[in-house]
Amino acid sequence: MARTYFDKSSKNRLMKTVSVVFRSYSSFASFTSPQNFLMKPIHLSIILFVAVSAFAANLSNYMPFGSKGYLTSSFGESRGTRYHAGIDFSTDMEEGFPVIAPENGKIIEVRLSPFGYGKVIYFKGESGITWVFAHQSGFSKPLDSLVTAVQKRLSKNDISIENPKIPEFKTGDTLSFTGSSGIGNPHLHLEMRGDTDKLILPCRNGVVCGDTLAPLILGAAAFRKENIALTGEEALKNGCLAVPKAKKAKEPIYLVFKIADYSRTPLENPMSVRRVTLKRKGKILSEIIKDTLYFSRMIQIREELLWAEEADSAGDWHYLPAKIINGDSLQLEVEDMVGNVSQREFSFADSCEGQKPSMHTANQDSALFSFLSRTWLGLNLCPVDSFTLYEKGKNKAKDLCTEFLHEPLPLAQIFEKHPKAEKIVLSRNGKQEEIPIALIGKNAGNFDWKFSFEGKTIRQTIGGLKNVPWMRALAVKRLPSDSVCAIEFHPKGLHFLKDWQIEIDRGLATAPLYYLGETSRRWFLFSKQETKNNALTTSANELRDIGFISDTTAPELGEMRLDSAYIAGKKSPVLRIPVIDKESGIPNGNAIQASDQTGKYIYAEYDSEPKEIILKISDLPTQNEPFTIKISDEAGNSRTFELRAP
Ligand SMILES: [Zn+2]
Repeated sequence: MARTYFDKSSKNRLMKTVSVVFRSYSSFASFTSPQNFLMKPIHLSIILFVAVSAFAANLSNYMPFGSKGYLTSSFGESRGTRYHAGIDFSTDMEEGFPVIAPENGKIIEVRLSPFGYGKVIYFKGESGITWVFAHQSGFSKPLDSLVTAVQKRLSKNDISIENPKIPEFKTGDTLSFTGSSGIGNPHLHLEMRGDTDKLILPCRNGVVCGDTLAPLILGAAAFRKENIALTGEEALKNGCLAVPKAKKAKEPIYLVFKIADYSRTPLENPMSVRRVTLKRKGKILSEIIKDTLYFSRMIQIREELLWAEEADSAGDWHYLPAKIINGDSLQLEVEDMVGNVSQREFSFADSCEGQKPSMHTANQDSALFSFLSRTWLGLNLCPVDSFTLYEKGKNKAKDLCTEFLHEPLPLAQIFEKHPKAEKIVLSRNGKQEEIPIALIGKNAGNFDWKFSFEGKTIRQTIGGLKNVPWMRALAVKRLPSDSVCAIEFHPKGLHFLKDWQIEIDRGLATAPLYYLGETSRRWFLFSKQETKNNALTTSANELRDIGFISDTTAPELGEMRLDSAYIAGKKSPVLRIPVIDKESGIPNGNAIQASDQTGKYIYAEYDSEPKEIILKISDLPTQNEPFTIKISDEAGNSRTFELRAP
């Protein structure tokens, strides 16, 4: 593959002196008052035009690896409880492209880990911007030598070095090499940090971002109190947006749009967008713009992108915090990171023709699920499955299949009619299952819920709740169709700023607590858990599905094979050994220790995707000589393997 390492004309442009003015408008500007952050429509009157002195380097047309990179992830995208802090460039599944310095500066930190950012450098330019380049395969010579020396001295694979003593870099010098370390396939993650808290959008600040396609507007959800209507892509194109009781009710409508942006065909990586604007006759009713993000406000993602279990399919649900009363000729404008814009014009109707967006995936039980950060009951399963409601202080149960339409129902609608509801019994295939339910009060800051589940006690405390313009109904159910004994907690994406504390009776939690990765569908051990009052307790920063797993098996090694990999930009021979772990993973790269006969440290890189150990042939003893690898998993199981150098 032909590679342009550095484009001369772009280098010239980098050197040129141009005064850079950029528009810094953040959706957070109108969220200054935390009490009414969701209740208030955003007005675009707050647009700041800021000349940023930080851009003394006058950066323009910077291509991090010397040729135009296409985006695979955009700035401000949802990563569950945080934003994606930078942009991801495709490297066409290849590794080893030199990453060039965007300006004069120095590397202020380097870190190595098999997870997250993998091998990452923090480069501080003379403009004051800190550039982050993650998932690297290696570093340029002086840094590579230093990293290797420190690893040997400490006998550790994962290290971090602050202010490494290496020469400074000039614009265009090679800093590091692209790779696939940490999470994901080969790609380059780039971040621009204005200061310790502030992140800026690279695509509007001198970095060339490849994105040839305008955003897709895939669907809409409208809610009026606890009634929700969905509209599909076709109907929106035809100018129709379904809302509950379009003509009658006086209560305001809130809108959520499902949007995906792709940078090129084939449509492989759905991304988030920079701007979503709702207008009527040119007047802005609501607008979200992501040009800057703040680490201290990462949790804000839950206010802007509502959680949906079908999130692994294309698109995010963008919530616009404006109360809409008049639904005539509204315009939606959606702009991607580079300025491609899509528009729709529509009016409210009771219903629209065409397919609606799906609400859940095959991975979840459709009897109870989370969608748009709310809990839903799958009453569409009636009457094959039956749902019986029990209320506090009442003996007589209610049949929900008789009372409500046979379609998915927000759980909050049950509480609207039955404020004392406390349990639903689901009957399917002749088996009965209890679903405890509870409603969080409107102004509750914290919520403490102790309830009986299968005859045992569970207590969950949710801290730092913020008001949202809908009712918050909780539900708990046994997780079906999984080999792991587990419980699911709803609604996912519930907005809260403190921890979720969970306490499960030991009679139920008979093994250590694990949580389910929503997109990976893998179980991860809660690193902090303890037994208190005959219950196993832990905490998380969001509601999780919790499983009980007893793991006493140490990881296994698969068959080793000779291969090559990029090391400090050079393709070099390596040995790859697959790691097979059952439930518990490898906590970090230092959980793997390789050494020769004399006990001397050998650098062993752990790649988390795919799970394998990579050893440089040049580090190994000569052919047929022994060396050992010791692996410990996060559950504490460990094992030592005696191997022979190939
Ligand atoms: Zn990234």
